Amino acid sequence: MCPVVSACRFAVRLASLLVPRKLRDDWAGQWTAEIRHGYALLTDRGESPAEIRSKLLRFAMGAFSDAADLRLSGFDLRPVVGHPAFCLAVPLIVMALLLASTHAFQNCRQAIAGLPGRQPEQLVLLSRSATVMGLEAVPSSADLLAFQKQWTGASLAGFLIDGPVLRVTPGFYDVLGAVPRLPFRFLGHTIEAVKLLDLQPARMGILARLRASDRPRQTEAALTRMTNGRAVSLRFVKGRMRAPLVFAAVVCALALGIGLIVSRVRSRGILFYLVKTALAEGAIVSAWAELAAGLPISSSGAGSVTTAFLLPGLLLAAAALMLWWALLDQQGRCPVCYRFLALPVRIGSHSSIILDRPGVEVLCLRGHGSLLIPAAGGDAAEPPAWTAFHESWKDCFAQGGTK
Ligand SMILES: [Zn+2]
Repeated sequence: MCPVVSACRFAVRLASLLVPRKLRDDWAGQWTAEIRHGYALLTDRGESPAEIRSKLLRFAMGAFSDAADLRLSGFDLRPVVGHPAFCLAVPLIVMALLLASTHAFQNCRQAIAGLPGRQPEQLVLLSRSATVMGLEAVPSSADLLAFQKQWTGASLAGFLIDGPVLRVTPGFYDVLGAVPRLPFRFLGHTIEAVKLLDLQPARMGILARLRASDRPRQTEAALTRMTNGRAVSLRFVKGRMRAPLVFAAVVCALALGIGLIVSRVRSRGILFYLVKTALAEGAIVSAWAELAAGLPISSSGAGSVTTAFLLPGLLLAAAALMLWWALLDQQGRCPVCYRFLALPVRIGSHSSIILDRPGVEVLCLRGHGSLLIPAAGGDAAEPPAWTAFHESWKDCFAQGGTK
């Protein structure tokens, strides 16, 4: 056989791997016959071997797009999407991707650990209210000097974050309780160099270490009294770092709780519903927590509009949307095999809502039963009614139930 025809047949064989198995041999046979016919025709016309080769090879390449078309037209996503494992697998895949792309939730882990150093739970950020409208003011070098003078025996230091450089007053490492290896994370910033801060700059953050005997509220009041009566705020660094995680956990628990109350899930479906909702909410909440835990914290520890309203609002909206999906998804599933119900049929009549209620009936394709969803406009409080089929009905449904 001519080498060019052999090469074309090989290309067709390769392309035929894309074709569904049932059609593969017929499809390849038709393409091979076309190629043979084309070769004979071009040879009869007296075309040069180079032209024949180029034309036939170009024609054979078309087999790949034809095979891809066939594969896609025969590809039905519904059984895959409708399978109960699908909605469990998607959030698991999202979480695996998050795990891989965030160095195993690095920001969350750092938030849990707190600042590097000994007893990070004793570290606080100090700030004071401004004289105008009680706004928060970033403390100044004068405040640091005043605190150091008045608060005897306390361990505190000033700092200024300047891009990747952390400028600190002497004694900063004593307050921190360690000399961390560079680079390290400090209040959501990656610090690549530490330099000495002279007391010239007007503004700076103040980090202090509470002693075991210090009570936060009493210390605040004492500091306020010591320094001209302007209110002093004291915020725990570790608490501030963990705040997004606590909020995320509360939202996740709240979504599960509300979902359980709102849903009228039958006892058979409750485990599937809980696992599905927990995974879906968990994926959203963990992505949000990792993002929020990585955001910079202000030198005073006070929240901004973004961290106080925008980000929490975003999570609440996303969690509510996910809950709505979980309830809707549950309603459209068979309570026995948890696959999507299909083949909707309109029944009843709007003119006789007493005897013949209007609605849509959907079937489990495996023959487990049917669900009657009352039409809008009827009795809104009426829940969808499930009717289980007798065992003998299953013979009427195709095995696998997808066709
Ligand atoms: Zn079923």
